Amino acid sequence: MRFTSVSTSALSLLSLAVGLSFASTAQAARPPAPDLSNSEFQQCLDRLKNSSKFSGVDSFTFNNYRPSQPDPSVIQSLNYQPEFQKDVWDYLSVLVDKERVEDGIRAKHQWSDTLRQVESRYGVKAAHVLGVWGVESNFGQTLGKKPLFESLATLSCFDRRQSYFQGEFANALKIVQRGDIAPSDMTGSWAGAFGQTQFMPGTFLDLAVDFDGDGRRDLVNSVPDALASTANFLDNRGYRTGEPWGYEVKLPDGFWAASNRRDKKSISHWRNQGLTLANGSPLPYDLNSAGLLLPAGMEGPAFLVGKNFDTFYSYNASENYALAIAHLSDLITREDSSKTDFITAWPTDDPGISRQQAKDIQQALLDAGYDIGGVDGIIGDNTRTAIQQYQTSRGIFPADGRAGQNFYRTIIGDAAPNRSQYGNQYGQSGNSQPLNPEPADRMGQLIQQKNADGSIRLVRIDEGS
Ligand code: CA
Repeated sequence: MRFTSVSTSALSLLSLAVGLSFASTAQAARPPAPDLSNSEFQQCLDRLKNSSKFSGVDSFTFNNYRPSQPDPSVIQSLNYQPEFQKDVWDYLSVLVDKERVEDGIRAKHQWSDTLRQVESRYGVKAAHVLGVWGVESNFGQTLGKKPLFESLATLSCFDRRQSYFQGEFANALKIVQRGDIAPSDMTGSWAGAFGQTQFMPGTFLDLAVDFDGDGRRDLVNSVPDALASTANFLDNRGYRTGEPWGYEVKLPDGFWAASNRRDKKSISHWRNQGLTLANGSPLPYDLNSAGLLLPAGMEGPAFLVGKNFDTFYSYNASENYALAIAHLSDLITREDSSKTDFITAWPTDDPGISRQQAKDIQQALLDAGYDIGGVDGIIGDNTRTAIQQYQTSRGIFPADGRAGQNFYRTIIGDAAPNRSQYGNQYGQSGNSQPLNPEPADRMGQLIQQKNADGSIRLVRIDEGS
């Protein structure tokens, strides 16, 4: 059964159950939840209510949605440092798997009229809007379950970045005050990103669009509003109409360069350097300028990326994240889910796994007695620790806790489907079920900060003070 055919109530129950199991699996690897004083919290909210930041929020709205308790888990998330580094091929194999490509192709046909209108209004290619939608919220299937007012109020009063989150708390209150989003729909990521576009409240107020014409900008329930708002965001970040995001390229023998997508040069420059498309064809002149992106260094796939790639990057400040959007949009355009790898292989003999395979591994670990909490398809610290223990106990070297194809074979054993039943070399199962309880791994949600000269710069939430 596909996820899209699950009834709404079953879907929310499923999300709830998965959300709980995710919390329990993630807990052990995180620092303990801080003990936050509620009286300190309430005093802080009293101060905020009368501060200039909240001058646009009426007191009825403030009092109505004022949390009675802080939520310590968001402070945990704010200070969370992953124990394990993730290789780019592991990151991409989960974000761009057969299942997500198929969901994207289905969405492309289902919303073709809206996508056409959005493309003609904002000049943003439909496949690029779909790529963002798919990576951000799994095409609207995973919006995040944290109550926004509790999260943002807690972040406004404790730990780092209080000033920024105070502004976003005020913005979230303004959104319900204006009637754009129902208060019960104000749930999202721990940091306050919400809806099918995973906008922060401030981005919502600046860039959300009412595209279905019902008078509300509803990025939670209206797909047309969500698609148009995504296009409006990319347009606002400098999207160039008619340009591709870039393409995979082949480097000539003896060529050496560092990865630096910001150092943009003309296509003629790259042609003169001997670069071609990955299939050997000459580079087309359809990019104004392009920078070289080498996610795994000189040995892996190489890319020339243009300005539109940078607009994807501005969604989440991670090149791997932007590459996932770019690659997913290409596969949706091609309407081919059978092969989700690039032409040049990643420099590994142990490729990454799909979401279904991640769930298979987690189930096998549970069956073997490892207390990883539950099966959610996300290889977090707890699953990786369990894998490491499993590897150590069986003398598998290296005991690195990584869930790749080799470990999948090891733990699934004879039960593993034959590779030929899979669609591609990553072994992505054809009958996998979408189940992605959290929005895309937000390695670094971007926030806007003002420079001394008044200009805006984007920084990551998880960096700085
Ligand atoms: Ca609307």
